Amino acid sequence: MKLCRFNDNRLGLVEGDRIADVTPALEAIPAMRYPAPLGDQLIVHLAAVTATANALKDKAPRLPLAEVRLLPPVANPTKIINAPINYVKHIQESNADPNIKHGRSNITHISDWGLFLKATSSLVGFGDEVRLLYPERRNDHELELAIVIGKQGKNIPKEKAREYIAGYAMGLDMTTRGKELLSWRKSADTYALLGPWLTTADEIADPNALDLELKVNGETRQKANTRDLVYNVDKLIEYASDKYTLYPGDVFLTGTPEGVGPVVPGDVMQLFIAGLGTAEVRIAREYAGPPARG
Ligand code: MN
Repeated sequence: MKLCRFNDNRLGLVEGDRIADVTPALEAIPAMRYPAPLGDQLIVHLAAVTATANALKDKAPRLPLAEVRLLPPVANPTKIINAPINYVKHIQESNADPNIKHGRSNITHISDWGLFLKATSSLVGFGDEVRLLYPERRNDHELELAIVIGKQGKNIPKEKAREYIAGYAMGLDMTTRGKELLSWRKSADTYALLGPWLTTADEIADPNALDLELKVNGETRQKANTRDLVYNVDKLIEYASDKYTLYPGDVFLTGTPEGVGPVVPGDVMQLFIAGLGTAEVRIAREYAGPPARG
């Protein structure tokens, strides 16, 4: 099942180039009182919502996919977890490029860095444009397989990791290069993207064997396969849940392969991950930050 959120928080089932609008299925989510429980409530109640959506599907109105504004398939993750250096060839290109390395000592292995978090306020869907900050800084695309966590867990062994996955999507970890901390350079508004929809886990037999490709203005920049992940999907869940309790709806960006590079206002990124769809994401024509001070 391919589940999307669109326009003013509507819910859809993706069928080829059309969407079945099954928004009334959201009524399967119980009303909440303050404080809201941790976790995205659509994912907490995913089984009930999808059962209702399936029952509504035949009579649901259809819309052309091209005419909606896609929102991130998860609205309220408690965290966006990120693997920073998780493909060997990306580690090699980072060590070779002074614009990425910025005077740091040699990057070696993910176990030396651990994971990092992006602000949940940075998250948008593919219906939004990326709004770059500051023209003097280099801003890079990083296409990544994204896991959406399906249920709460801590200290999850890798052998049981799949039980905790609701589904997958394409993720973009937009990055300003520089010497500051990752959580500063990668968490500006619109610098985390998830989409175009949630593909439920039952549709992806092996997340550790997916082709992925990112083009900028039609030119291939990143082309790889998730079989080259240093820590694969299962190991990442074990690794992360050693520190963090994972909650339904948490987003896990699994790391970017080689081929990262700069984008500028007006660029269009074409994204592909096998089984998860294709999409175009635009870089807004204007920089979002104030003019640089002299
Ligand atoms: Mn990344």
